[in-house]
Amino acid sequence: MARVYNFSAGPAVLPEEVLKEAAAEMLDYQGSGQSVMEMSHRSKVFDKIIKDAEQDLRDLLNIPDNYKVLFLQGGAHLQFAMIPMNLMKNRVADYIVTGQWAKRAFKEAQKFGDAKCIASSEDKTFSYIPDCSDLPIDENADYVYICENNTIYGTKFKTLPNTKGKDLVADVSSCFLSEPMDVSKYAIIYGGAQKNIGPAGVVIAIIREDLITEDVLPGTPTMLQFKTHADNDSLYNTPPCYGIYICGKVFKWLKKQGGLEVMKERNEKKAAILYDFLDQSKLFKGTVEKNSRSLMNVPFVTGDADLDAKFIKEATEAGFVNLKGHRSVGGMRASIYNAMPIEGVEKLVAFMKKFEEENLK
Ligand SMILES: *Cc1c(COP(=O)(O)O)cnc(C)c1O
Repeated sequence: MARVYNFSAGPAVLPEEVLKEAAAEMLDYQGSGQSVMEMSHRSKVFDKIIKDAEQDLRDLLNIPDNYKVLFLQGGAHLQFAMIPMNLMKNRVADYIVTGQWAKRAFKEAQKFGDAKCIASSEDKTFSYIPDCSDLPIDENADYVYICENNTIYGTKFKTLPNTKGKDLVADVSSCFLSEPMDVSKYAIIYGGAQKNIGPAGVVIAIIREDLITEDVLPGTPTMLQFKTHADNDSLYNTPPCYGIYICGKVFKWLKKQGGLEVMKERNEKKAAILYDFLDQSKLFKGTVEKNSRSLMNVPFVTGDADLDAKFIKEATEAGFVNLKGHRSVGGMRASIYNAMPIEGVEKLVAFMKKFEEENLK
């Protein structure tokens, strides 16, 4: 068996330990004689799996008691609609558009009310985070929306926007659990699991309790009301059981590593290896303004599309896979989530050095 170094932006690399444990438990989960894929979501065994997963997530993020943790489905994309449907009481919301995902969320919200784009970095292909210290926040805004880490463009908010007292909603899909965060600063934090947490099919939302009400936009389907899921501890209908089980294992793995402070240190170290190389390279260069750089997604280019393609091909052959950048940026992107070991990044940089020597004219 040969495992590759997988730099995919998502679905993405998972800790090998977690995969091995899941494999060992595939036919018989802890003496139950069943796979977690086969058991009732109403069983005692599964109840413990989902309760433990929630508790471990609460421990990792120090989630305050007045926040609910929901395990949902429909990807981050369904949250683009659920958030306005549940929160847009005044039918006004302010969006900060720092990439394709924020833009999609903004467009979706326009279906439900007066969603405004109050800041954007589209003028420079989303290569930076705009100054959000004094934005024209609408006094009737139900919330201010950000995508905290922009997976495609490799930017991250280093300071949260000044929302002037309005509730902050954040899509954290690609930076979830990469470092500690102060949950109390947000109204809703949500993310798809398939970037930094687990398999595709699970979305985790952390929502301040006072926002979970029956006062939603008229016609909001039962399944799209946060209250439906909150009242039933994410078991209103059949949840994505196996995905939740793997997420739970990743939470335990993160606790074993030492928690999110340790992950932050490790992620900073990993990102620095790559950025330091890019900053002195004569062939490769990063595409993001330095003070907006993400720890998780690192886009870079050679400036020559043919050379980019050659690099991706040779890297793939050498066991560094999924390095192709998003089509809107071109070039390469290395996603270096929690489960990417430091040696994966070190070996990638060594490979890039060798490629540079061979291809620099
Ligand atoms: C991947 C991604 C999305 C889209 O997720 P889906 O689960 O495919 O809907 C949205 N936001 C961010 C930040 C992402 O990285």
